[in-house]
Formats: sequence, structure tokens, C-alpha cells
Amino acid sequence: MIITVTLNPAIDISYRVNNFNINKGHRVENGLKTAGGKGLNVSRVLKQLGEQSLCLGFLGGQNGKWIKKRLEMDGMEQSFTTITEETRTCLAIIDEDHSTQTELLEKGPNVSEEEKERFLETFNQQLKKAKLIIASGSLPLGLEPSFYKEICKLVKEENIPFFLDTSGESLKLGIEGSPFLIKPNQEELSQFAGKELMKIEEMVEVAVKICNQGVQNVLLSLGENGAMLVRKDTILKADIPTIPVVNPVGSGDSMIAGMAYSINNGFDLKESLRMACACGMANAMEAKTGFVQPEIIKQLLSEINITTL
Ligand code: ATP
Repeated sequence: MIITVTLNPAIDISYRVNNFNINKGHRVENGLKTAGGKGLNVSRVLKQLGEQSLCLGFLGGQNGKWIKKRLEMDGMEQSFTTITEETRTCLAIIDEDHSTQTELLEKGPNVSEEEKERFLETFNQQLKKAKLIIASGSLPLGLEPSFYKEICKLVKEENIPFFLDTSGESLKLGIEGSPFLIKPNQEELSQFAGKELMKIEEMVEVAVKICNQGVQNVLLSLGENGAMLVRKDTILKADIPTIPVVNPVGSGDSMIAGMAYSINNGFDLKESLRMACACGMANAMEAKTGFVQPEIIKQLLSEINITTL
């Protein structure tokens, strides 16, 4: 069983508005409401690939109940820790006329010490049955930025691969826990390096340094420019074809799902990178976030070129 950890999930509501203007009222169709959070996207894509996973994290209030119900309806396994404060809502206003997306992202609930302990209890129990753990996204208030580092240590004690997909301080500290894989994009890697990284060579240099700190795989995602997989002993580059992009949001999460699926099924490094890219691309070709079509993935796999640098 693969476990995904989403510590700060959200109800994502998106509205499509023509000619969005600040300071003006807009009449809109009902918003599209989804159970959001990076780990949930990963679990959803894993399911589409035929791999069941267990979703862990925190859920609270009416919003939490709504997400739980939604996941049940989608046939996803879950064992969330119930919290007192309300799970957040995130709002996106999409204006197709101007090709803009304006987002309002709530910070989310404050997790108490007792709630954190209850989560760790569940996590430790489930860990015993897990084959791979994926932790994605930001941390809710109340958890220390070192929280991912803490859980990374627990996972390592069980000798299970730990994927960490986060940014900022929690990524920096998480790296100190030596996760099996991290998946920064160009912006996240630049933030980590403390300077804007523009050239591939500069990015690889930083990724190699991270590997020397104990991370086994740095999966660097480069949007339409493909991806790199950097390890101490190997550097792979994936060149991808141009595709008809509909909505690339969640492509990073889909990529993580593709990588986890590959590791779980014993694919070699090149095939794993190929699968990870195909999943990211397949998601970018759909309107829904965290949605891939296996037939499209199959087709894309043959169009991705992997080279060793
Ligand atoms: P998100 O935070 O929205 O999940 P990300 O920034 O973490 O995304 P990206 O680098 O944008 O991740 O995308 C991950 C992978 O998905 C890329 O490496 C690529 O394979 C595929 N992908 C994403 N955007 C595009 C695109 N516009 N065209 C082709 N492939 C794409």
C-alpha cells in the first residue's frame, strides 16, 4: 500500500468569469467544487493508474466532512485525523478572456499538539503496512517547519522510500532528513539555492549538492521543458514533445504519482522518469486537476526521449 500525506487539504472552488474586473460584481455559474490538496491529487492519479493508496492528514469541520464524503464517493481509502478547526477553502477565479487565474488561498486551520500526536499515532500504525510514503504540500499552522523531517525519520527507520514534495523552509529542513526523493520545480530549487537558477547546468549543480547531503533522487520538473532525474551516480534528462495543454495545474502531483507507481512496480530509472513525465503531461492535457487517462499515457511514453548526461 502507498500512503499519501496531505496535512493541509482544502475545498477548491473555481469560478469561470468573463472579463473579470476588480471592484465589480459578477454573476457566475455555480462554482466547481473539488477535494483539493497535493497528496489527494497524487492518490487520485495513483487510482487511475490502478494503484490503491491510503490518504492521511488532517480534516476538520463541515469542509472536512465534505472532503471525506467526496473521497468515499470516489472510492479512495482514507484515515484522516479529525481536528477542531475548519479545513480551509481555496478559491480560483478563471477569466478565459484575459487568460488569468486569480487565487485566494486560505492559510487553513491551526493544528493542536494533541491533534498532531493523534496523527503521528495513525501514521506509525499505517507505516507498518506501507510500501512507499508520499508527503506533499504546505504545512498547516501549529506544525513546526521540521515536521516533514520528523516523519521522514520515522519512515527511514522502516526502510521504506519517502517522497517529499514541498517548498521553502519545510523542504530545506526535510532534505536534512534524507528523503528517498524530492521533486522541486525550477522555482522551488531556486528558492532553495537562494538565487534564480536559469541554466540546466546550474540546476543540476544544486541537485547534485542535495544528493550529496543524502537525498537519493532529485526529480526536477521543468514544465513544458520536461524533467531531469539527478542522483549521485546518474543524471538523466527527459525531452518531451509539445502537447495540447488544457490545464497544467497538478502536473507535478501527477508526475509524483507516476514515479511512485514505477518504483512500486520495479521499473528501472529511465522507465520511471519516462512514466513520471507521461503522467505529468497527461494531466496537463485535461481540464480536471489530478486526472490522467491511461490510454493517453501509453501513447505519450513512446514520444519521450531519455538521455544520460
Ligand atoms: P504543480 O505545482 O502544478 O503540480 P509543478 O510545477 O510541480 O506543477 P511542472 O514542472 O509544471 O510541475 O510539471 C510536471 C511535469 O508535467 C513536467 O515535468 C512535464 O512532464 C509535465 N508538464 C507540465 N506542464 C507541461 C506543459 N505545459 N507541456 C508539457 N508537459 C508539461
